[in-house]
Amino acid sequence: MSHSETVSVSNADPLCKFPPLIKERGQREVFCGLAGIVWLHRKMQDAFFLVVGSRTCAHLMQSAAGVMIFAEPRFGTAILTDRDLAGLADAVDELDRICATLLERRADIRTLFLVGSCPSEIIKIDLAKAAERLNARFLPQVRVLSYSGSGIDMTFTQGEDQALKSMVPLLPQTDARQLIILGCVADIVEDQFRRCFDQLGIGPVSFFPGRRATELPAVGPNTCVLLAQPFNGDTLRALIDRGAKHLAAPYPFGAEGTTAWLAAAAAQWNVSDAQFSAVTTPLIERAKKALAKYQPLLSGKRLFMLPDSQLEIPIARFLNREMGMQLIEVGTPYLDRDTVTAELPLLPAEVMLSEGQDVEKQLDRVRAARPDITVCGLGLANPLEAEGLTTKWSIELVFSPIHGYDQAADLAEIFARPLDRRSRLKL
Ligand code: SF4
Repeated sequence: MSHSETVSVSNADPLCKFPPLIKERGQREVFCGLAGIVWLHRKMQDAFFLVVGSRTCAHLMQSAAGVMIFAEPRFGTAILTDRDLAGLADAVDELDRICATLLERRADIRTLFLVGSCPSEIIKIDLAKAAERLNARFLPQVRVLSYSGSGIDMTFTQGEDQALKSMVPLLPQTDARQLIILGCVADIVEDQFRRCFDQLGIGPVSFFPGRRATELPAVGPNTCVLLAQPFNGDTLRALIDRGAKHLAAPYPFGAEGTTAWLAAAAAQWNVSDAQFSAVTTPLIERAKKALAKYQPLLSGKRLFMLPDSQLEIPIARFLNREMGMQLIEVGTPYLDRDTVTAELPLLPAEVMLSEGQDVEKQLDRVRAARPDITVCGLGLANPLEAEGLTTKWSIELVFSPIHGYDQAADLAEIFARPLDRRSRLKL
């Protein structure tokens, strides 16, 4: 992304309850959507992700996910060579051959995702057609799906959205009243939430994605959807097209966010205040007690969030409202109002929101503000640390279990740790 154009927008409407917004369209520093494979392949244990990409894509996957030595891997890269890229070899035939070899050798794979990349998009390999051909050959044993993880116009968490959206047409239809939790969460978080929903009498509840890609939730006009991750807007809209209703709520980060998130479902299931309070009060108290340990470290500290994970807005809300941090600027790669509508009014009126990036201009704002901590992608963290600024990698927010009451203190610790380390170094 080389062109640079910055558009500042302030809220002209005095009744608007959203903070002012800077829109920037310049050079971006973000990972691509292939990164989503790292957590998706851990969650869906019968799925395989085959990236159709270059050696760069293969290196990214290996360094982001590590090399599995003892287990059969559940992701790989079909590497496009110079001959493929120059159109001198038939990449399509070769791809079919690689997939057939893989599926014949690996009986444990029940869903194969063909994942597009920048090079496969540039040379226009039609992965949807490839999936059709392979389905004709391998269904019902294996289902083949395709989506793009390309970094051309995507930030890294959008890979999950595209993968889940590719599964929506497969979901069976139902008229049953039920709840879908949308967004990949750690198994431990899924188990805790299931217990909570059971105690509240809310259900049946499905998690999408689940632990097996073949165990798909049904969807229909009596399905409610609660988002667990704010970056699944396209999948949300695909579920709404199938008749589902979105329960807009703050995200389950921190005690307040988790309570508001559960309350959105409780209202639909007519859970009484007494029952809601009986289930949540002990959990809230435990979370608040655990959070108190980190408040002295975080309270009053100034935070700058660069746009990267799309988790910035709900995490900033948690750090401000529950940990007392001051927000200087909260950046997000895309502001999808469908997914953050319940979060925006919870941000303080004076915070500067930014959407998109013009990295040099944004770094100038970071340098001018000298925040106590800057949340950013891996590529920017080292240069900022070298300038004496304390940073936190935003990718840690998708690799760590941070949802729910029991993880609230772990989420606070992610930000407290680098501040603590910096203060010790100063001693
Ligand atoms: S998909 Fe694009 S951005 Fe991602 S590793 Fe491959 S070439 Fe790089």
